[in-house]
Amino acid sequence: MYTGLPTRPHPAMGRGPNAGCRYCGLPETNEHVATGCNKFKASIMKQLHDSSVRKVYDGLCIKYDLAKTEFDQPVPVVQQNAHVELYWDRTWVTEAQIRFTKPDVIDQKPCSSNT
Ligand SMILES: [Zn+2]
Repeated sequence: MYTGLPTRPHPAMGRGPNAGCRYCGLPETNEHVATGCNKFKASIMKQLHDSSVRKVYDGLCIKYDLAKTEFDQPVPVVQQNAHVELYWDRTWVTEAQIRFTKPDVIDQKPCSSNT
């Protein structure tokens, strides 16, 4: 019995039980789609992730009185006013070597307002 994602081998998709991943050709299982396929992660999964995080970003724009971008428009990497700097999907340079340096959203008070 098939459950979960409508992967290509799913009987409802009509491609047969051995249908491969639409991106890499490996077996398109639920596990492969969710975590195993780097091409899925870089395309559809990133779009789904970003659309979820976008709700948080839009809420922060309202909170800090920053311009909201239309949903079909790209999010600016940075928006700022006198009270806050809001970053979207930006790589951060850190002194310590850490594995993940690209948080989804960062809101930070400008240095001049830390006093
Ligand atoms: Zn794949």
